[in-house]
Amino acid sequence: MTTSGSNLNDVRVIIIGAGMAGILTAIRLREFGYDNFVIYEKSDRVGGTWRENTYPGLACDVPAHLYTYSFEPNPDWSRTFAGGAEIFKYFEGVANKYKVMDSIRFNEGVPHCKFENGQWKIRTSTGREDEADVVIAATGVLHHPRTADIPGLDSFAGACFHSARWDHTVELTGKRVGVVGTGSTAIQITTALVDKVAHFDLFQRTPQWVMPIDDRVYSDEERAMYRNESTAIEALRTQIDGEFQRFANAVIDADSPAMKEIEAACLANLEDTVADRALREKLRPTYRAGCKRLIFSSDFYERIQHPNAEVVTSGIECIEPRGIRTEDGELHELDVLVMATGFHADKFIRPTTVLGRSGKNLDEAWSDHPVAYLSISVPEFPNFFLLNGPNGPVGNFSLIQIAESQVSYVLQLIGQIRAGECREISASARATEDFESARSAAAKKSIWATGCDSWYLDKHGVPASWPWSPSHFFEEMASPKLEAYDRLG
Ligand code: NAP
Repeated sequence: MTTSGSNLNDVRVIIIGAGMAGILTAIRLREFGYDNFVIYEKSDRVGGTWRENTYPGLACDVPAHLYTYSFEPNPDWSRTFAGGAEIFKYFEGVANKYKVMDSIRFNEGVPHCKFENGQWKIRTSTGREDEADVVIAATGVLHHPRTADIPGLDSFAGACFHSARWDHTVELTGKRVGVVGTGSTAIQITTALVDKVAHFDLFQRTPQWVMPIDDRVYSDEERAMYRNESTAIEALRTQIDGEFQRFANAVIDADSPAMKEIEAACLANLEDTVADRALREKLRPTYRAGCKRLIFSSDFYERIQHPNAEVVTSGIECIEPRGIRTEDGELHELDVLVMATGFHADKFIRPTTVLGRSGKNLDEAWSDHPVAYLSISVPEFPNFFLLNGPNGPVGNFSLIQIAESQVSYVLQLIGQIRAGECREISASARATEDFESARSAAAKKSIWATGCDSWYLDKHGVPASWPWSPSHFFEEMASPKLEAYDRLG
């Protein structure tokens, strides 16, 4: 890797987004001697997903010690699966510790980037113009709320909001609350709210497979051990990582015995935990476990049996001022309606306009579906790199591990510019086509392609994720194959 030495070019980098990946990029750039960079952040704080999502029950279903930067272990995680507020605090703490805050321009989104005369020219939401050799899009994956297009939604007389836009001014105690959706978000909200409200309706279009997890508080002794013995925390990370790799290896092969074991564990969870036969049948999925993103929960089945809770399975016909009318004619009266209806998972940096070489528009390049070579680089968009971009292993393993390996990879590409090997670098069209055709063929063998609908699928019904093993991903990320890149200048 070109990391140091004399006669290196001063490469200026613009990072878009100060979430997990943007903070990481800034830290790594500085570590490798790049001081000429800036982060543009549309909001007034760091944290990305963990700033935007504040719903009750918010937690990460990746164990906390794995959902941690490798270089900044946190012995003080309070529990095995940390809550959102604690994770937000962790990222803010890391950004402060590594003095990333000084490099962030808050409240400045980047609606426009254009590659012109060998430079990226950007315009921010405040009208500022800036330019750089390199743009890194650290803009996150699931951050454009998708509100279901249900007739009458605007007519609802109570409070109504998307799960990622939680309105904390709305009092929930003693209220009738309805949640539309049964994804990871809705399940976490359900477990947090059922016993705090007067009545809770979960509007389920599709039942979910639920994998039980051991979510527990770490004792003072355990936290002291992790603080005092670095090998203990490393051993824990290695163990969790091994479990995740096994899971990630299972989902890419729908016929694998491991996938059947996962399904058996979820099925046993349903059979053993839900006592009422009618409720159990409502909650029983009819598609393969793991086809949609698996729900990881220690207590969803227990909580949904609370006397306050009801699973509504009749389809939603419309929303009326007093509540939701289902297709069986019943009106479910509500005071508060939460749309836990997911995100537009194919947007990535968009709606930012990104114009590459000769004015090529990223939105047009991605008009069929978003594609990036190894999830990082797009042909004709030189020196423009995506973190957690399209076709990456999003959903299979810890996004932090993914971003760390991607940043190391991108640093090697930037190293080419810094060392004067080239001025412009982007994946070749040929390498990208070959990658995407192999990727989509492999994706058809994954569990995501076994006949359910989910945000993993592109508009043709093909899973958009990384369909190979984690070890293959990390091997690819170890060192760029430069022959796959167009290098000019
Ligand atoms: P999601 O998985 O996309 O779920 C959206 C839900 O809304 C689905 O149950 C869907 O039903 C339902 N829905 C959408 N439109 C509807 C309509 N018109 N009528 C009725 N129901 C409708 O979204 P999410 O729960 O926000 O989760 C998205 C992803 O975020 C997760 O898969 C996960 O990767 C991530 N996440 C992670 C965590 C974590 O702990 N790490 C927590 C929350 C979220 P159908 O299934 O029938 O389409």
